[in-house]
Amino acid sequence: MGCDTAAVAAAVRRAAAAVAEHRDELVDLDKAIGDGDHGENLKRGFGFVVSALDSADPGTPGAVLKLVATTLISKVGGASGPLYGTAFLRAATAAGDSAELDLAVVLQAALGGITDRGKAVAGDKTMVDALAPAVQVALAGGDLTAVADAADQGAESTIPLVARKGRASYLGQRSAGHLDPGARSTAVILRAFAAEGGG
Ligand code: ADP
Ligand code: MG
Ligand code: MG
Repeated sequence: MGCDTAAVAAAVRRAAAAVAEHRDELVDLDKAIGDGDHGENLKRGFGFVVSALDSADPGTPGAVLKLVATTLISKVGGASGPLYGTAFLRAATAAGDSAELDLAVVLQAALGGITDRGKAVAGDKTMVDALAPAVQVALAGGDLTAVADAADQGAESTIPLVARKGRASYLGQRSAGHLDPGARSTAVILRAFAAEGGG
C-alpha cells in the first residue's frame, strides 16, 4: 500500500467524504452528551480541507498533512478543531520531507499532539480511546485496516465510560452509556484512510 503524496491526498479526500457521510450520526452522538455540533464542525472543516487541496499542490505527504492541520486549526472551532489540527500538525512534522509516510510514526505523533494539547488519558472517554489502541497496532506492524479495526473497538469501548474531559464531563455519570462522538469520528477517519486505494 502506497503512502506517497498522491495516496495521502486521496486518503484525506476519502476522510472528508466519510465525515460528510457520517455528519448526522456524529451530530446525534454529540447531542446525547455534548452540544450537537461535532458532525457539522468536522464536515465543514473537511470541506475547507478539500478546497485547500484543490487549490494548492502540496509536494510531499508532510505538506498534505500540514495543509490539513492549518485548515482545521483556522476553520474548526470547539474542542475537536484544535485537537485534530494539532494531531495533523504533529503528523506533518514527523513526516518531514520524506516521500513516503511511515504509518506508525505519524500516528504516534498525532496521538502525542492530542494528548499534549488536551491532557486526556486512556479511559477519559475521548478520541484518545480510539486513537491510542490504533497507534499500538501500527507500532506492532499492523496495516491500516488493522489500525482502523482497533480504532473501532476503541471507540466502542467508550460507551460505558464516564467522561473526564471535554463537554461530556459536565454530565458526570450521565455521560455513561453513550459512544463518544470524537472517538467515533477518529474511527471514521481511520477507516476512510484504510479504504481501498491505499493511503
Ligand atoms: P465541543 O465539545 O467544543 O463542541 P466537538 O463537539 O467538536 O467540540 O468535539 C467533542 C469531542 O472532542 C469529544 O467527543 C471528545 O472526543 C473530544 N475531546 C474533548 N475534549 C478533549 C480532550 N481534552 N482531549 C481529547 N479529546 C477531547
Ligand atoms: Mg460539540
Ligand atoms: Mg461545540
